[in-house]
Amino acid sequence: MRPEAGQTERELAEAVRDWAASLAPRIPDAERDGGLPAEVVHDLGELGVLGMGVPEADGGLGASTVVFALVLEEIAAAWPSLAIGVSVNSGIVAGSIVRYGTREQRARWLPRLIDGSGLCAFALTEASSGSDAASLRASARRDGDGWVLNGRKHFVTNAKYAPLAITFARVGMVEEGTPHAGITAFIVPTDAPGVSLGPSDQKMGLLASDTSSLVLEDARVGADAVLGEVGRGFAIALAGLDGGRIGVAAQSIGIARAAIERAIGYARERRQFGRPIVEFEAIRSSLARARTDIDAARLLTLRAAWLRDSGRAYTREASMAKLFASEAAQRVTYQAVQVFGGYGYMREYQVERYARDARVTTLYEGTSEVQRMVIARSLVAA
Ligand SMILES: Cc1cc2nc3c(=O)[nH]c(=O)nc-3n(C[C@H](O)[C@H](O)[C@H](O)COP(=O)(O)OP(=O)(O)OC[C@H]3O[C@@H](n4cnc5c(N)ncnc54)[C@H](O)[C@@H]3O)c2cc1C
Repeated sequence: MRPEAGQTERELAEAVRDWAASLAPRIPDAERDGGLPAEVVHDLGELGVLGMGVPEADGGLGASTVVFALVLEEIAAAWPSLAIGVSVNSGIVAGSIVRYGTREQRARWLPRLIDGSGLCAFALTEASSGSDAASLRASARRDGDGWVLNGRKHFVTNAKYAPLAITFARVGMVEEGTPHAGITAFIVPTDAPGVSLGPSDQKMGLLASDTSSLVLEDARVGADAVLGEVGRGFAIALAGLDGGRIGVAAQSIGIARAAIERAIGYARERRQFGRPIVEFEAIRSSLARARTDIDAARLLTLRAAWLRDSGRAYTREASMAKLFASEAAQRVTYQAVQVFGGYGYMREYQVERYARDARVTTLYEGTSEVQRMVIARSLVAA
């Protein structure tokens, strides 16, 4: 699957599509058991997918964000739970370490992100700090030649199989008027003393994607755990989320596409009133709306990815892509269930899984309301 000379981005994405499609028999058990099989994560490492956005000099494929988005779409079309794990590991976490890590941090940690021995995590959210991420309360204080961290991070994707979590904690007190002051990003190995996991959250969808709390009780990390500069972590969080939103947009597109492809197949086969239901205008109109939604979402997403690859500002465009694609995924997956009629509600046909998995895409990495705030802020600031 590693890109070969002359291989186009589309061909690479198609190779991933074939691999991801072969996972189908494993999905029901993994979703029931609530975790990604270690062999699947290992295969992703072998195939090079986990290091797609990591420069070749750091052991990755050095692929563009455009390719990464196309590949994530393919993984999501097959298995949305896997796609978010890859997006967090290889998008947000890898992107943050590549951009802000020292030479030593890159050499030490990037191999762990790309070798398939686990999927890394990004721990920003807390019980009282969600959309208002700058209000986080986890604390960090200097102690001898290292740092001591305390707090509890919520809803941490990949926590159960993460060798490390980029964890945000505050150094010093909250300062009035500058809520993000003191926020610092730490690379926290999950086997560091004082680090433990809460029980996995029981979710509506993405059942094979682990989401757990990360508990820091006098957790000790070295001085070299600081990513970027002390007190400048909020900018790292925001930059990570910008990239992550392209990943969630791509995930949303993959989910929507898979649901509607299944609906088209079903509509061709299912007969009512003596005809295949695909001949009914209401069904055709629903399919046309869905396909238009998906194409619009993909174009917005590829534009944001292209801007990122060109080194240009892309915060607003990433929010637009994430907002539109995630909301489109709600519409499309519900339309797909509708096309299936009562069978769409049954697990056997799997469109209900896509509808459940789509639901979270308007929530995580910034809700739709937060995306509109980001977009509007950029408009009025111009
Ligand atoms: C499955 C899953 C996985 C996740 N993975 C991670 C992860 O890996 N790492 C991580 O750090 N976090 C993760 N999260 C957390 C996620 O990013 C947050 O849930 C999300 O940012 C929203 O925060 P909240 O849930 O506290 O909602 P709140 O911020 O409490 O929002 C509640 C409602 O109020 C609205 N609202 C809030 N502020 C405003 C405003 N100013 N104007 C208008 N409306 C507003 C919101 O849009 C929402 O509708 C995950 C969440 C889920 C569900």
